[in-house]
Amino acid sequence: ATQPYDDANIFAKILRGDIPAERVYENDFALAFHDIAPQAPVHILVIPRGPYVSWDDFSARASDAEIAGFTRAVGHVAREHVGPGYRLLANTGGHGGQEVPHLHVHIFAGAPLGPMLA
Ligand code: 5GP
Repeated sequence: ATQPYDDANIFAKILRGDIPAERVYENDFALAFHDIAPQAPVHILVIPRGPYVSWDDFSARASDAEIAGFTRAVGHVAREHVGPGYRLLANTGGHGGQEVPHLHVHIFAGAPLGPMLA
């Protein structure tokens, strides 16, 4: 089972506006902002507004509207803010290396990325 959602995580604080982020896009269901420690020339994170710990949690519990709104936000940001091609990544849970317990999709772009991230 997924851990309970922790309202004190750093992305919850960004959603509430308690701490700043370099926002690039938002809609009713999602917020996109630049990663604070970019690992590619373009490194944007897209998060759902709802309280979902991970991809696992979101894909199981979110409404169809939330899933559509979030997915369209990822696509919109990728189309509007990045160059020819990009990589999407959602680290999930302990074995997936997830550090922040609020679902986030990484968008990496801006240069040829090679076959895999380390
Ligand atoms: P994870 O390892 O959980 O998939 O990735 C978490 C990401 O969040 C990392 O790439 C990290 O640089 C980013 N991050 C952590 N704290 C902050 C923050 O306060 N602001 C922003 N913009 N990004 C953050």
